Amino acid sequence: MNISIGIGYDIHKLVKGRKLFLGGVEIPYESGLLGHSDADVILHSVCDALLGAAGMDDIGVQFPNSDKNLRNISSLILLERTFKTITEHNFKVLNIDCAVIAQEPKIGPHKKEMIKAISKILKTNKINIKATTNEGLGLIGKKQGIACFATVLLKK
Ligand code: ZN
Repeated sequence: MNISIGIGYDIHKLVKGRKLFLGGVEIPYESGLLGHSDADVILHSVCDALLGAAGMDDIGVQFPNSDKNLRNISSLILLERTFKTITEHNFKVLNIDCAVIAQEPKIGPHKKEMIKAISKILKTNKINIKATTNEGLGLIGKKQGIACFATVLLKK
């Protein structure tokens, strides 16, 4: 069996006046992530991990922020397009593991819904989302941003 692993990392700034989207789910919170799209760090890191495992260019190349059509786009659409691209190259997703780093809000209550949204697109239930705070340390600890790591295993 031909299997390959990929890693993705993403971070976005938290700012007032933006809605917060994580894992394809809108989460009620006092601020949201700033970016060209909806700035969903979970989905962006998953896209990058998928592209990495497939040996392809990263999300910034696939979906450049100079593309006006991508402005405020739902990252679920970016994930859909990424999945289509790797599927066209005969890759199948074996599993995904994510580690979100957010001081606030709590991720736990939304995990199930996030996994549901992601698994609907990637057609696998083997998706795991874990979350940790940054223990109040650094920029993430001071609630200035949210980051996420994702690892993916693909088979061909
Ligand atoms: Zn991003």
